[in-house]
Order: sequence, then C-alpha cells, then structure tokens
Amino acid sequence: MNNISISKQLFARAQESIPGGVNSPVRAFKSVGGTPLFIRRAKGAHLFDVDDNQYIDYIASWGPMILGHAYEPVVKAIQEYAAYSTSYGAPTELEIKMAELIRSMVPNVDLIRMVSSGTEACMSAIRVARGYTGRNKILKFEGCYHGHADSFLVKAGSGVATFNIQAVPGVTAGVSADTLTCAYNDLDAVKQLAAAHKGEIAAIIVEPVAGNMGCILPQPGFLEGIRQICDEDGIVFIFDEVMTGFRLSQGGAQQTLGINADLVTYGKVIGAGMPVGAFGGKKEIMQVVAPLGNVYQAGTLSGNPIAMIAGYTLLSELRNNPSLYHELDTKTAYLKDGLQNVLDNWGQPFVINHFGSMISIHFSEKPVTDFASAAAANNARFSSFFHAMLQHGVYLPPSAFESWFLNNALSYEDLDKTIEAARQSLAGL
Ligand code: PMP
Repeated sequence: MNNISISKQLFARAQESIPGGVNSPVRAFKSVGGTPLFIRRAKGAHLFDVDDNQYIDYIASWGPMILGHAYEPVVKAIQEYAAYSTSYGAPTELEIKMAELIRSMVPNVDLIRMVSSGTEACMSAIRVARGYTGRNKILKFEGCYHGHADSFLVKAGSGVATFNIQAVPGVTAGVSADTLTCAYNDLDAVKQLAAAHKGEIAAIIVEPVAGNMGCILPQPGFLEGIRQICDEDGIVFIFDEVMTGFRLSQGGAQQTLGINADLVTYGKVIGAGMPVGAFGGKKEIMQVVAPLGNVYQAGTLSGNPIAMIAGYTLLSELRNNPSLYHELDTKTAYLKDGLQNVLDNWGQPFVINHFGSMISIHFSEKPVTDFASAAAANNARFSSFFHAMLQHGVYLPPSAFESWFLNNALSYEDLDKTIEAARQSLAGL
C-alpha cells in the first residue's frame, strides 16, 4: 500500500473548514471510498502527492492539461504577465487576440464572450437562447452535465450521477419544470418532446460526445436529427464543447463530427488550467448579449489577463502544431487496444468507449450508450479497479461517470505501465 499519511491528515483538516473537505464534490472519492490524494505538484503526465507518491495522470485537471502539466510555454507566459498585474477591470488587447484566435480555429463563431468557468458559459448560453427566442424551456439529456446552474441539475451526470442525487435541493420546481429531459441517443424521444412543446423550446443543449457518464458516443444520426428538429422549430442548438472543444480537434466536435451548432460553449482546454470558459456563436444570436442587446451577462474577472495569456498560449500551440491531435489520438487508440487485450483475457464483462483522446471503461455486459446503461454497469467493480490502479501508480477519475482524459505528455512507456497496471489490478479484483 502507498503511504498516504499526509493526505489523510490534510483530508481530516480540510473537513474542518471546507464542505466535505473539497472544493468540488467528485474530488472527495466519496463514491469510490478512501482518502482523496492531496497533490503537491505535477509535471507532464505525472502527478506527485504530498506523500511523494507518483501517479500517471488520466484526469489532466478534468481536461485542460491536454499537453501535460506545467507546460513550459504556458508557465513562462503566466510568469511574464503576472508581473504586469493580475487584473485591470478594463479591456486589453489580449482579449481581442484570444477571441480572434478562437474564431480562426472553430466553426460558426462570429462573436464570443469570455467567462470564468464552463458553468457560466453554459448558463449564459441558455439565457442568450431564451432571450433570442423569447421561449422558456430547454431540453437536455440525462447524464449530460453542463455545470451546476439550476436548470442543468435535472437528471445531470458527473457528481450528481456519482452521488445518485435524484432531485437537487435548492433548485426550485419552477426551474425544473422548464428543463425537459430525454435519454442520450434517443432521437425519437427528442422528436416527441419537440412536437409536444412546439414553439416553447428555446434551446437543446448537448454534449456532442458525452463525458459525464463515462465516455458515451453519439450514435449515427442522433445529432444530425436534433439539428433538423432545431431548424424546423426555430430552436437554438447548443453544443456544450467544454470537454470536446480543442480536444477532439482544433474545431472541436463541430469540426470532427461535421455538424453545425448555433451556440457553442467552451471551458477546460481554453484556459490551460486557469479558470476560463466562453460562449459564442452566430452574430444574429450573440448580438442580444449586453451591451449590444439587453440579455445581461457580466464578470469582474472575465477575460482576466493571466487566464487569457495562459489559454492563448496553449491554443496557439495547438493551432501551430495540428499533428498533436494525431499523436494524442494514436496514443489513446494504443491504450484502448492494450486495455481491450487485458480485459479480454480477464474474461469478465466490460465495455470500453473511446473517441479521440476521451476513453472510459464500464463493467457492463451490454453496450453503454446512455445514462441508464452506464448506471446499470457494475460500478462497485469500477471502484475496486480504481483503487487497485491507484496502488499501481495510475490515477483514473474516481467515478465510472467520468471520462478519462489523455494528455500528449504521456509516453508509450507510461501507456505500457498503465496497461500492465490494469492487468495486475484486474487479476486482484
Ligand atoms: N459542461 C461540461 C460538458 C463539463 O464537463 C463541465 C465540467 N466538467 C461543465 C460544463 C462545467 O464546467 P465548470 O466545472 O468549469 O463550471
């Protein structure tokens, strides 16, 4: 067993002052059990905890660290700009450069507004869609997570699913009533709801590749069908690309899947680990945002210079070196093949879902295509697997309802170690 005595002490101390000892619930290891590791530092694909244990990292800060931790150009840029001041509350040229860079990389974004988290991005996009259409209802998918804003916590994925919270106290019945839900990949259900609520739905929001119930792929025709429904009924189609943006490709899921969204939200990679999100889209829609229009949205630290230079530096690297995506996808496919082989030999039921550099394992007999099938998997077995992997120096997300994120600092040696760790972990289950 790894010695994690300092993590244990810190966790006990943290619980005295912070709810559950953590500032974001899934970090608490509550569903997998045990003590969350307190991290001291990270470099490339490796995390080091306060007890000096080393782990191969498959969380990558839940996505942002696509090129690895402490990526030199990002660190240097932050250091340089921090010396100028950490915030002004007035515009900077950096914000223009960031917006221009994003527009040059992703489709269908004429105007883009920076915020400080993925939650803010999605909640603002919904407000824009409501303001633009004059309608109240939104439609989201069971097991998709779009942040912790009230309207999204109905049948949400990620920690809400991990902790099996059926109805979030504090979210009013009125808000919940305006949130319609369907099973992911169930186009017929979307058609039926859209018909039943014709002229009432402001937006359909979707994770184009879902990552908050493990990794779940859109079935052929699902997103295309929603696009058509949105076109027919004047509904704003929102791609939540907080996970997929700048991860599946430069242009995100829109580019990779060849489907156009009306509004897009970003987070994670866009800030290189600094608190950044963004929402954007067609000018016709985005021009309702204040001060152009009356849909009010604001932020004291929005477009923060340190966050902007960090994100700008990382996105520039991705733009100037597009082969990085091929490298990362090839590494993920290598990991997938290795895990598949090990799991086949193990002989118990499992499903590996994988798209680009997102991947996850469900201990399930049936294909995992939506929340119900993800929830029906043997998630107690996932918890045992998670802990065994941790003992072998591999840090997976501490929940079956999360995607793993690969980063390009992972070496083939790291991947081989991970596959061998999986073999030994499964043998011990
Ligand atoms: N949308 C998606 C798809 C996400 O995965 C997340 C966070 N995991 C969010 C929105 C919310 O982002 P944040 O945690 O930065 O508020």
